Amino acid sequence: MYFHDAETLERNELEKLQVERLKKTIEQAANSPYYSEVFKKNNIDPSIIKSADDIKKLPFTSKDDLRSQYPYGLLTKPIDEFVRLHASSGTTGTPTAVFYTQKDLDTWADLMARSMYAVGLRRSDVLQNMSGYGLFTGGLGIHYGSERLGCLTVPAGAGNTKRQIKLIRDFNVTAMHIIPSFALYFAAKVREEGFDPADMPWRIALIGAEPHTEHTRRKIEEMMHIKAYNSYGLSEMNGPGVAFECTEQDGMHVWEDSYIAEIIDPETGEHVAEGEIGELVMTTLTREGMPIIRYRTRDLTRFLPGECKCGRTSRRIDRIMGRADDMLILKGVNIYPMQIEKIIMGIPEVGHNYVIELFKEGLMDQIRVKVEIKEEFFVEDMRALQGIQKKISSMLRDEILITPRVELVQHNSIPKTEGKAKRVVDLRDEED
Ligand code: ADP
Ligand code: ZN
Repeated sequence: MYFHDAETLERNELEKLQVERLKKTIEQAANSPYYSEVFKKNNIDPSIIKSADDIKKLPFTSKDDLRSQYPYGLLTKPIDEFVRLHASSGTTGTPTAVFYTQKDLDTWADLMARSMYAVGLRRSDVLQNMSGYGLFTGGLGIHYGSERLGCLTVPAGAGNTKRQIKLIRDFNVTAMHIIPSFALYFAAKVREEGFDPADMPWRIALIGAEPHTEHTRRKIEEMMHIKAYNSYGLSEMNGPGVAFECTEQDGMHVWEDSYIAEIIDPETGEHVAEGEIGELVMTTLTREGMPIIRYRTRDLTRFLPGECKCGRTSRRIDRIMGRADDMLILKGVNIYPMQIEKIIMGIPEVGHNYVIELFKEGLMDQIRVKVEIKEEFFVEDMRALQGIQKKISSMLRDEILITPRVELVQHNSIPKTEGKAKRVVDLRDEED
């Protein structure tokens, strides 16, 4: 049971479609001030594309390119033709603005509806969207997809836990869209409010918008008595609905009739060997108003080998390991925050939040991991707590090869921000 024929196209058919759409994309992009110049400089026109692999002949587009063209440089049509804009969250600096024609919004809603269908949502479901609305694509993107699928859609927005719980109970909410770091917090809150998550009407959570580990997903599933599915997207590629898990929970299907995904070595720009980790590069194939070619997402992942049991033929990517920008270099060692999360969230005594702090001790850069401990363990004696601390510290050393300070803190003591969690705090310029 699939939402769209494109999900099960034979690979050669899919590739034919990609080539056709890539040519059209180049043709359309040439109408924008930015690409018209880039194409002229590099002698690019649709005729150079003979196979999907020929995408390698096209230049990359970086976040800086988008910023330098802010706000209108990539638009292929007069501004009158556009009906909506969104902007990235600006997690890593100046935001970029993305514009949509009505047709683009329709395409996006279809992709979103397809994604939701793939995890088992149907028109009889009631979906509560618990992500922020506004410029962030996780609001309206999920919202219109859910309506397109025919679900009753509750635009709850972010925050306000008590009201969220009330809406869920009053309207028999069966599915939620929720940011993973908030899901962990929310699950604990539901209990604190005196409800048993097992008695709640929900059955499916769509989680995404920020990196999280498999342990975190399992933890959300256990705490909430729910099935949680990974949802990947970025504003530059419309928003959510770019790649999505199916009910197999074994990697995210990239909707390849709408996007070409490549994985490159961020240093050389060359494709990595099949299955190796690298930077995800994405091209839109069905966007008319603001096509983007070979966009360097900075997100790190790999293609998963083999076919998915669900029967969809599109390739799958592994969960995002983090952004290239998130890499910390400490004492000459490269560390990704997700390596730390992987360890921490696998430890039963750990609650739902943590933060990584970088600080200076003398001239040395040091790393400190503050970890919230579940209430029931925090009341234990000093020796037990020291034991937990030692365990976390040595497991982290095995993973990241240096020994971080580990500080155990009380449940709910790390401030919870609305929206994407800030996992790394750099205190190196401050007095310690
Ligand atoms: P910003 O880059 O400012 O956060 P967006 O709101 O467009 O802007 O967010 C897109 C980014 O969010 C992606 O490039 C990726 O880094 C992250 N992201 C989105 N979904 C996921 C996911 N399922 N897993 C990990 N990271 C994700
Ligand atoms: Zn599948």
